[in-house]
Amino acid sequence: MGTQPFTFRIYRFDPAQDDEPFYRSYPLDVPEGMTVLEALLHIQAEQDGSLAFRYACRGAVCGSCAMMINGREALACRTQVHGLMQEPRTVYRGVERQEGEADTGDVSTITVEPLRNLEVIKDLVVDMEPFFEKLAAVEPWLQPQEPEPENERLVEPQAWSEAEPYTNCILCACCHSVCPVEEEDPAYLGPAALAQHYRFLADVRDDAEEQRLTLVGGEHGVEACDFVWNCVEICPKGVPPSKGIAKTRARLTRRRRAERE
Ligand code: SF4
Repeated sequence: MGTQPFTFRIYRFDPAQDDEPFYRSYPLDVPEGMTVLEALLHIQAEQDGSLAFRYACRGAVCGSCAMMINGREALACRTQVHGLMQEPRTVYRGVERQEGEADTGDVSTITVEPLRNLEVIKDLVVDMEPFFEKLAAVEPWLQPQEPEPENERLVEPQAWSEAEPYTNCILCACCHSVCPVEEEDPAYLGPAALAQHYRFLADVRDDAEEQRLTLVGGEHGVEACDFVWNCVEICPKGVPPSKGIAKTRARLTRRRRAERE
């Protein structure tokens, strides 16, 4: 395919300066293999130094560059621009296209927007504070009763297999953005926090089950999940939040039943 011309239609908004969000279009010749993150870095360096976005590792490990790319949550560092020509496009932030802007029906136009369900600080940078507050609320650390061992706390591979998929979370917030319950109920703990909650609930070295179930048993906890399954589908690391939520809910039900008997 070689190098091809693309237009990047990018959400711009500085709450301190702009009354309303708007989109600005940037043309860029994109060689095969270039990622959306690399394209944004080119645009920032060569066309518009005021464009704000977040990134760090460039290797799908830190989760910092999560954003909406053609209407879908993704890591910009692992999304190749040419590959997007095959994908369906929608726009979620819903800002009207301005006169003279590139037509989004064109496969060579890539729309880039900030994650949903989080306040925009500037352009593609969202405020992650509420996301991390929810994570802290589920106490995502090991709480064993056994005294501290001389070396590490060992666990057999078979016993570890239940918790293991949840340890792959990179806290990118893609699941937080795609979750319809988050949109309706900002107090909902959310798929990422509940996935990390289950990671410790399923850890055989942890002894805080009762306390952990109490943390997520309220109206904004596991029972608020509608099992739309978007979070499982969108996660770039293969973490299954809905699955963990369902298993936590089953444990909660068993505990309540036992308390009644
Ligand atoms: Fe991102 Fe997946 Fe973790 Fe959600 S569960 S924060 S989508 S890595």
